[in-house]
Amino acid sequence: MKILFSSRIEPAERWLPLLRELLPNDAISTEEENPDVAIIAAPPKGTLEKLGNAKLIQHLWMGVEALLADPGLPRHVPLARLVDPGMTAAMTETVLAHTLDWHRRLYRYRAQQKEAKWHRFRQYMASDHTVGILGMGALGTAAAARLLPLGFNVVGWSRRPKKVDGVQCFTDLSSVLSMSDVVVCLLPLTPDTRGVLNKESLAKIKKGGGIINCARGPHIVRDDLIAALDAGHIAHAWLDVFDKEPLPADDPLWRHPGVSITPHAAALTEPRTAVKEIAKNVEAIRRGEKPPHLVDFAAGY
Ligand code: NAP
Repeated sequence: MKILFSSRIEPAERWLPLLRELLPNDAISTEEENPDVAIIAAPPKGTLEKLGNAKLIQHLWMGVEALLADPGLPRHVPLARLVDPGMTAAMTETVLAHTLDWHRRLYRYRAQQKEAKWHRFRQYMASDHTVGILGMGALGTAAAARLLPLGFNVVGWSRRPKKVDGVQCFTDLSSVLSMSDVVVCLLPLTPDTRGVLNKESLAKIKKGGGIINCARGPHIVRDDLIAALDAGHIAHAWLDVFDKEPLPADDPLWRHPGVSITPHAAALTEPRTAVKEIAKNVEAIRRGEKPPHLVDFAAGY
């Protein structure tokens, strides 16, 4: 098959040798004009318009909202999200790190150190705390599976009813938030999830709770979060994603004592594991089958 690799951000020199090793009989290039399969992430302007004859568009990232907003995307061609085990593992590690930072009050000890202050906070057991995961998809269920053995209670929110071992699952957001000490956002960005963490919803989280946003910036209304932090209702927020990226140097979040910032680095695509998933999808197309993780255009993810 003719395969196009096209991205302004993901380096072709890193991906092409790995792809060619797993798909030795396919012609894979960055120049293909009429591909059977297009592997893309933020492709150069004008690329999407040329993919109308493709059998599959394979995205290199998990979130697809920017792609879906592009009028050049041919909507009759199946679009697969990349569900990459390496990236999923990285996200789980990030969620565990921030949850434990909140649970063990490490962010408070770091603040105390700046003032040479020696003060011990009360200790809690993991079973005293509930982690609420917004978005029980590939990333949310993987994070839950690692939080449970540590002893945390885990509640999850999804659009459709769901059964996940050990997790209390809800389609009602209020129930999840009112049970949660720490809220982890792992939702796709859609018209329904934009601004989901706002003044009213943040107020439902238990007092002194934490917010971990590893999904997309617009899931949280920034000024409502700052107000909840200033009021002491939310103790700390770990933010990886922002309305505007890179986060502008004059944004108040940079200097807010209740905020820990990472530069959209919670989980990066890991080519060494991702290529295996891409190769499986290409083989499915070759056999005339549907690959998994196709985007539902109506739902927006
Ligand atoms: P996924 O497998 O598609 O799962 C999405 C979950 O969100 C599903 O459980 C879905 O419910 C739920 N959901 C969607 N709309 C909802 C709504 N309106 N109300 C309630 N629940 C809703 O997605 P994923 O692979 O876990 O990835 C999630 C997001 O993480 C991506 O879209 C991306 O934006 C972000 N991400 C960020 C980074 C980073 O480095 N910061 C890295 C990777 C991904 P159903 O189960 O009912 O469908």
